[in-house]
This record gives sequence, C-alpha cells and structure tokens, in this order.
Amino acid sequence: MRVCIHRGSHQIGGSCVEVEQDGKRILIDLGLPLDAEINERFHIPEKLGAIDGSDPSLLGILISHPHLDHFGLLAHVSSNIPIGIGGAARRILSAAGPFLPGNWPVPAQGWDYKSGHSFAVGPFHITPYLVDHSAYDAYALLIEGGGRRLFYSGDFRSHGRKSALFKKMLAMPPRNIDAMLVEGSSLGRLNDNQHFPTEFDIETQLVEAFSSTNGLATVHASVQNIDRIVSIFRASKRTGRKLIIDLYAAAILEATGNKNIPQSDWPSIALFVPHQQRLQIKENAWFDQLKRHSSNRIYIEGLREMPKRSTLLFRPLHRFDLERGKCLEGAAYFYSQWEGYWEQGNYDKLKDWLERHSIPRHNIHTSGHASPADLKVFVAALSPGKIVPIHSFMPERYQELFSDVEAHPDGEWWEV
Ligand SMILES: [Zn+2]
Repeated sequence: MRVCIHRGSHQIGGSCVEVEQDGKRILIDLGLPLDAEINERFHIPEKLGAIDGSDPSLLGILISHPHLDHFGLLAHVSSNIPIGIGGAARRILSAAGPFLPGNWPVPAQGWDYKSGHSFAVGPFHITPYLVDHSAYDAYALLIEGGGRRLFYSGDFRSHGRKSALFKKMLAMPPRNIDAMLVEGSSLGRLNDNQHFPTEFDIETQLVEAFSSTNGLATVHASVQNIDRIVSIFRASKRTGRKLIIDLYAAAILEATGNKNIPQSDWPSIALFVPHQQRLQIKENAWFDQLKRHSSNRIYIEGLREMPKRSTLLFRPLHRFDLERGKCLEGAAYFYSQWEGYWEQGNYDKLKDWLERHSIPRHNIHTSGHASPADLKVFVAALSPGKIVPIHSFMPERYQELFSDVEAHPDGEWWEV
C-alpha cells in the first residue's frame, strides 16, 4: 500500500491524502486550506489525478469530519465519485448548504460510517472510529490494504464532551498499525505539560459570564460545534436564560438526529428569525421548515422584554435586528470560536459595530485538538511502526515527542 500526502505535511488545513493499492486509489479528506479566501478549483492539489469521475481507478473519497479544511474541495468533485462520511455529518452538511453563501459542498452518496463497523472499498478495508472533536460525528480511519495497516487520526481531542471516546481508544486501541498519520495542531501552541480548557470549563466560564451580564448575552459560536451549543445551552439554563436560536441553528440541531441535543421545541429554547433570514425563507419558500421549528417562536418585542433572561446564539446578521429592536442595553458579546477568523479580518464590520455600541468583546473558547501530552499517550497506546506528521505547522517537533517518526513532504509517495 502506497501513500501520498498531497497537502498537510507542514500545515493545518486543506488536508488531502491519497492511498494506492493494486492500481486502485482512495482519497482521505479533500480540504480547503484555512487561508483560502474563496472556494475555487485552483486550491485542488496540483498532483492529484482526475476527480471529474472519468478515472475508474479512483474508488471514492473518505471524509474524516465535516470541517471545511477536510471536505471543502468536494465542491469541485463529480457526484459520480462515492463519498464516505458519518451519517449525521452528511445530514448536517445537507441542512447547512441552503443557508450558507459560497461553494458549500454537499457530499454525494457513498458510505455512511458507523463506528467500529468495517466496510470494503475495492482492495481496501476501512474501519471508522468515532472520536471527540469540535466537529460533530468525526472519525479516525483505519485503512487496510495489501496486508498493511494505516491509521489516520483525523482531528481529535480528549477534553470535549465525548472524552469517553478518547479513553476507549486508549483502552482498546486498534493493534498492529504499520504507519500512523497523526495530527499535531497543538504543537507550537502549547508546551508539553499544558492543557486546553475542557468543554466543561467552558460551560463554567459561560455561567460566570452570563451571571455578570445585565442585559442580553450574545454568544458568537459555530452552530456546527455541537459540543459548544450544548455548553451554551446548559450555562443559559443554569443562569435562568432561554437560548435563542435562528432557523439555521434549528435545522442543524435537528440534523444531528440526536434527541439529547437541544432542539427548537425544547421549553428552554426559542426561535428568533432575523430579518435577513426572513427574506431568505421567503425567497426559497422554506415555509414548512419554518413552521416545524416555530413552536417556541419569539419576535423582537419578546427579545426586548427579556434581555436578562435570554442568551442569543449570535451571528453577524443579527446586528441590524438588535439595533433596530433596541435590545442592546447592558448587552455583552462573547466570542466563542477560533481566534484566527478574527485576526484574518473576517469580522472587521462586526468589530466596528461592537465599538459603536460600546459592547466589549470577551473570548470564551477551547480548541478542538489534542494537547501534546494527549498526543503522546495516544501514540503510546496505538504504538504504530512509524508516525507520519500531518495537520501541523510544526512537523519538526514530532521528533521531540515520539520515536519512529518518518516525515514525508507534500507530493511524495511512500510505502506503508
Ligand atoms: Zn482540521
């Protein structure tokens, strides 16, 4: 079995790995680079073969999890190429598509992963393992072919709400791994003995923040970070606040298919449809969907009456409604996602708006990635023949953490 990292050997984001056996190929992830401004074809790695469905040797594309830096370039792939992804992840991406601008890819049919259940793809045997990550329904993948075993860690952590999955992997790791591609996002960001806050720490921080807010608490988080939505929901409940979501959030939460995840018809949740989204609903005639999520609908007057008893799951499109509806007295803004978006200037208009209304920005966030210490115990448990760096800006640091490191640059083919 031969492998080529097309992108990811020395960067976070845009991951793409090709695996070949008996002249048959599969791709693992086809991500958009994190610094890509638009999702266009030219981001497809140069040495990648045809992805227009004309090459029968390409059997399929296996996506580890629904983050753009792992699946984004599916926008340019023929729908004849089967896609493997978690069933809930597939539903989330389909539900999100209509709401989001740009080239938002919805994966073609293929394989729906079930953790621990293997399936065959030509000469390959694939086993997905559900992992703890900030994306819902995320997997590590074991790929067997030609008598060799390759393990792809995907993106993972131990400090989320599904930390039991990490412990389970340590207790019952897949055995006899010949080579392991392991992510190293935290290298260079944390020292070996440092840890990220847990998702439970985030919940505690949110409880404190909401308690000391005298008006509307607005939290700017990705709706698709389901762990975080649960933290925001729980912290709201603990401080006597209702969580206010929009139709996009309602659709994503429904798409999880998980009845333990907050839903639009729960008593501590309310639906508020911002003006811009109302136009979108009208234009696309999403009336059935709106009706389905409207059992707890409130309007701007309702929000104005109970700012201290509300947490708004904030998106920049809310700012016009909040301004016009006079909901901002005593309001606080909590930024709860990757700092990089802010630094890249994605939210410059929002920044001006916050300043204009004298609303301070507070950061409450934790990473979706394993700390160096967690990477060490993870690698020790799986004890692979060799470790190949991926999804890291610091591949050179692997040598300090692990033995049997074999780094391969982008575009180089190597034997497992
Ligand atoms: Zn990633």
